[in-house]
This record gives sequence, C-alpha cells and structure tokens, in this order.
Amino acid sequence: MIQLIKGFKDVLPGEIEVWQTIERAAKETFENFGFQELRLPIVEKSELFSRSIGDTTDIVEKEMYTFEDGKRGHVTLRPEATASVVRSYIQHKMYAKDPIRKFYTIGPMFRRERPQKGRYRQFYQIDAEVFGIDSPYLDAQLIFMLATLLEKLKARDVKAHINSLGCPCCRPNFQKALKDLLDAKKESLCENCLRRSEKNPLRVLDCKVPSCREAVEGAPSILDHLCDDCREHFETVKAVLTENGVDFEVDTRLVRGLDYYTRTAFEVLTTSLGAQNAVAGGGRYDGLVKALGGPEIPAIGFAIGFDRLAEIVAMQQTIEADGPTLYIAPLGDAATNKAATWAMQLAANGVFCETDFAGRSLKSHMKRADKLNAAHVLMVGDDELDRGVAALRNMATKEQWDLPLDGLVETLVDRFN
Ligand code: ATP
Ligand code: MG
Repeated sequence: MIQLIKGFKDVLPGEIEVWQTIERAAKETFENFGFQELRLPIVEKSELFSRSIGDTTDIVEKEMYTFEDGKRGHVTLRPEATASVVRSYIQHKMYAKDPIRKFYTIGPMFRRERPQKGRYRQFYQIDAEVFGIDSPYLDAQLIFMLATLLEKLKARDVKAHINSLGCPCCRPNFQKALKDLLDAKKESLCENCLRRSEKNPLRVLDCKVPSCREAVEGAPSILDHLCDDCREHFETVKAVLTENGVDFEVDTRLVRGLDYYTRTAFEVLTTSLGAQNAVAGGGRYDGLVKALGGPEIPAIGFAIGFDRLAEIVAMQQTIEADGPTLYIAPLGDAATNKAATWAMQLAANGVFCETDFAGRSLKSHMKRADKLNAAHVLMVGDDELDRGVAALRNMATKEQWDLPLDGLVETLVDRFN
C-alpha cells in the first residue's frame, strides 16, 4: 500500500471543519479591514526566494524544494508567501493607480525541515500584506487585526511579542555592537551561528541552541540603538496597541529569520503547543519592493501557521459538520425513482439532502439517517405513493405529518430555506 510521505499530511473530515471555520473567519475579518484575496502560483523561480528571503536564512540555505525545470532553470516550491505577493504587486504594477493595496492569500508552503509535531514539509499559511503605508498606525492595526481573528476563533493562550529591528540607518550600529560581543564568544557558538555572526549577526539572537542562547544573554538591546525616527515609530505602535486593548510584550530578542524586515517585527506565541510555539510571524519590510525591482514602497505583513492555529482551535472547541437537513427514505423501486429526483432538486435548490438507493428497509433507512445526523426524514413507499403523500418526520421532536406529493419539492424548499 502506498502511504503519504513523512512531513506531509491529509486534512480529513473531522479535522477539516476547524480549518473551514478558520478560513471563513480569516476571510471575513480581513475583508472588513479592506484586504483583497490573491491566488498565487506554488512554484516560482528560485531566485525570487534567494533574493527576497536572503541567502543566509535557514529557509534558503537548506529548506527549499528546488528543482531544474528545463529552460526555466531552477524553480522552487514556495516556502512562504510574501515574496510571491511582492513579485505579483510589482509585476502587475498594482501600485500604478494607488500604491496602497492590502492583500491576503491562503495556501500551502513547502520547507524541507525535520518533520515533527507542529512542523511539516507541506504546511499552510494565512498571509496578509499591506503596501504603501509606512505609518506606525498600520503596524498596530495589523497586529490588532490578527488579535481580532484569534479572539473570534477563541484561541486562548496566545500573546503578541513585538520588537523593532530598526532601519538601514540605525541597524548597522547595533549589528556592530552585537558582532563585537559574538566575536568575544566564538567558542560558545554553534557552527551555524559562527557563519551567521559574519553575515547576519542578528540571526544569532534567534538560535535555539542552548550555548548560543547563553552567549547572547548579555547582548545589547536593539531598542537602545534605534534612531529617533525608528524609536518614535515603535513608541506609537506600542501606544496604539495599548489603547486598543491588545495584550503584547516587548521582546528584544525577537528577530525575523528573513533578511528583508525593518522596524516592527512581531510574533504570536502560544503556550499550548510545546516546542513549536510560534503561531504567526510578521513585520515590516520597507526595502523589499525596491530590492525586487519595484519602486520604493513600504510594506508590512504577517503569516499565520494554519496547521498550528487549527491545532489550538481544535483543542479548545469542538466544531462538527452539520448533518443533512433532510434524509429521504424510499421504500421500493417506484419510491426510489421519485426520491432520486427529489433529492437532486432539493440539493440544487439549497437544501442539504441525502437519500439512499440500495433498497433498504425502513429500519435500515432510519439507522442511516441517525448515523448521518439528519434533522428530518421523508418516508415514502408504495402505500404513500397511492395516497399521493409522503411522511415527514422531525428527528428531534419525533413529530410527523403527511405532505402532498403535488408540489413536494417546492413545499420542502420553502420550509427549509
Ligand atoms: P519556526 O520558528 O517555528 O520555525 P518560522 O520563523 O520559520 O517558525 P515563519 O517563516 O515566520 O516561521 O512562518 C510563519 C508561521 O508559519 C510560523 O509562525 C509557524 O506557525 C508556521 N510555520 C513555519 N514553518 C512551519 C512548518 N514547517 N510546519 C508548520 N508550520 C510552520
Ligand atoms: Mg522555521
């Protein structure tokens, strides 16, 4: 028997109801905040990711699914959505009429990581990106929108952690201060961090290896190195979040794994998932649109780990699929023939309807209706057909009454819609 590949998974009925609930809530929330949906390809030129995410990140260094595609050269299964959203924004000159655009996109991402709980090789993200606004009010609004969605989904034990990564003007000072410290602690750094400390020292702050954590314990805080503009920006973000009741905490160790982030960086962490505790991550990336060949337009976004959010939501509430509104239980060939047509017409007209063609007994029909959790059963046999009626039973109240076959579908559509 052929099984699925480790690190990949099927989302089946029983679990999918939670996914659908999340997706509906995200669409509704984001659209109320002015976001429009994008559907983007899963495969892009590899260069898009190496240029936008950065050569020194785990993703580009070792996690990408890249293969040769003839003349096209190297292509990659997208490991995240931001790069594609930016590519699309630039390619279609979506900034031409109005640089301010807000997008969301939902879909699978691929990273060749070690599969474990909460970490898959194909996972899903709900992604939101805003272009053309550099105001700190937007940063706060975006975090507020994320918090609103999590609250709607009754996700408890989640908290926003925020930091500022400064800008090309002030970050080099911090990077230098950090690099000096790392140079002094070379013996405690893991192999990756030795490399990172040369190319991208900020990323050492993010390393999970205990000796690296210890090494950066006394590290300077980036917040002490911000320029006036960045400091003011960050102060406003915090003030607006506080004013609007968003529970957050400043974490000076928080950096994003991706190179293109500036100023506000944030993560939503949970205490209910064990080691894989990041539910969402995001931040500002004011330099990326230009770096990918577009005009100089600021941007900010976030990505929610759909799989992890689904796990949290499922832990805290049971969401079950609705049963059919109506189950038609035909007895005998003539009734089955009628039932087939009624069931098709009812479903086509908006009534969730099931029937069965196997020539079951009434008892067996009722068992099946129960199993499907049907709200009503319509019983019809030769006797009913002769009398020109069908018997409708409410499964909860056990009430039962006859309905005329004449205009039956219309009667039921009216009753159930
Ligand atoms: P982590 O620290 O868990 O590796 P990350 O910083 O690599 O996360 P991002 O690139 O910020 O993650 O992606 C945003 C969100 O996507 C994460 O907060 C997480 O919820 C989810 N995510 C990332 N990688 C995976 C994965 N391999 N499997 C499932 N979810 C993932
Ligand atoms: Mg990761």
